[in-house]
Amino acid sequence: MVHYNSAPLPRWSGDSHRRRYADCFERMLVLFLLLADLMERESKLMQRTLVLLKPDCVQRRLMGRIISRFEDKGYNLIAMKMMRITPELARQHYAEHVEKAWYPTLEGFITGGPVLAAVVEGIDAVDVVRSMLGPTNGRDASAGTIRGDFGCSRQMNLVHASDGLEAAAREIDLYFDKREICEYDPTISSWLKAVDE
Ligand code: ADP
Ligand code: MG
Repeated sequence: MVHYNSAPLPRWSGDSHRRRYADCFERMLVLFLLLADLMERESKLMQRTLVLLKPDCVQRRLMGRIISRFEDKGYNLIAMKMMRITPELARQHYAEHVEKAWYPTLEGFITGGPVLAAVVEGIDAVDVVRSMLGPTNGRDASAGTIRGDFGCSRQMNLVHASDGLEAAAREIDLYFDKREICEYDPTISSWLKAVDE
């Protein structure tokens, strides 16, 4: 036989009842704000950048070693394809250089063989990937950077990476259809940075 405690349930006065609700609401609000703050910080840190392995990189069979550097860094490759850049796409991509005297040689180079286009995603990816490349001219680039380790040319500098957030968005749109982006949450995410970082 089941015995129920016959003691009457506590009855709150209207005031204490309201206080309990207010407390509960306040706690939920704080939790929500903390979560929103964490998500906002996370989304500011997570960036996408366009990377092109240029024709010299493809011809010199360096694609795998260079892609490995981004993977080793903890970055995600969320889109990748081999393609041939047309003169028209080259002009759109390098719009800021089209009027320069050396532009025709750049166009000849970048359209002169297949490239591998990729979208790299990760924490502060835009600036970090640029610093992994090193300066434009391989002769000025330090050892440890991609351009410093693999080349000594100003033009044949192996890799392109977007130089800012706006450029990254524009260039990703230029090379990829939204359906070609395969985002995913890598299972090692929790080992790549602390939650409050
Ligand atoms: P980065 O790729 O480092 O952003 P730039 O935007 O200045 O460099 O130039 C775009 C690309 O044009 C370079 O990566 C390089 O391949 C080529 N380039 C840069 N300067 C010259 C030059 N003076 N002559 C020929 N090609 C150049
Ligand atoms: Mg540039």
